[in-house]
Amino acid sequence: MINFTYFISDLHLSADRPDITQCLLHFLEHEAPHADALYVLGDLFEVWLGDDDITPFSEQIAYAFKSLSVSTPIYFIHGNRDFAMKKRYAKRACFTLLPEQFVVDLYGTPTVLLHGDEMCTRDVEYMKFRKKARSWWWPRLMLALPLSVRRRIAQKGRSVSKNNKQQLANDIMDVTPSEVIKVFGKHNVHRMIHGHTHRPAIHVHEVNGHKATRVVLGDWYTQGSVLRVSATGIELETRTFSSS
Ligand code: MN
Repeated sequence: MINFTYFISDLHLSADRPDITQCLLHFLEHEAPHADALYVLGDLFEVWLGDDDITPFSEQIAYAFKSLSVSTPIYFIHGNRDFAMKKRYAKRACFTLLPEQFVVDLYGTPTVLLHGDEMCTRDVEYMKFRKKARSWWWPRLMLALPLSVRRRIAQKGRSVSKNNKQQLANDIMDVTPSEVIKVFGKHNVHRMIHGHTHRPAIHVHEVNGHKATRVVLGDWYTQGSVLRVSATGIELETRTFSSS
C-alpha cells in the first residue's frame, strides 16, 4: 500500500450546515484512518468565539477528530475564522497546533504549509483586521467578554462580511504573487500548500530559476475537498455531499 497524507481546509463548519458536517464525519471515519497524517489548514469552523463556547456541535466535531487520532495524527494551522482556537479545544479534538507557517518533509519533499490569508495583501481592509486580530491585546480583550456578548458581535460581523465580499473585486481576494515568492524564499522550499482563497489548483511558480509548486486547497461549500499527497503524486479530490 502507498503511504499518503491528507490535507483539508476551509470547511467553514457550522451547526446550520449539517451536509458539510456529515461529509466530514464520513471522511474522518472511513478515509482519514488510512492516511499517515491529516493536516487541517485553517477555517475548519465558520466562526470560533473561544474554547469556552462548548456546544453539542463543537463537541461532536471534537469527538470525531479524537476518534481519528487513535490511528492518525492530526495537525492544525489556524485560519482567519478560527484563529481564536486555543489549547483547550485542541486537546479535546487531539489536534497538534502548528505555527502559522510550518515546513514539513513530505516523503522527501520539504513543503511549507499555511492557511494563506497573509499572502492576500491586496485585501487592505482584511490585512488591517488581521494585524489587530493577531496582536497580543485584541484576543485577550475579546475573550474577556462574556460569551453571550461575543455571540452577538459574531452575528453582526457575519452580515457585514457578507456584504463586503460581494463588493470586493475577484483579484483582491486572491494571493499577491510577490508574497508567494517571499514565502517560498523565507523557508527555502519549492512546494507550498495553502487554503483560504477557495480556488483549488496546482500552480507552478519560478523561484530563483527553480520550479516551485503551490497547491491551493478547495473549500467545502458545495462538496468536500481533499488533497492527497504521496511520494509519487499530489491529487486534489472532491467528495459529494449526500442529499439526505
Ligand atoms: Mn480563510
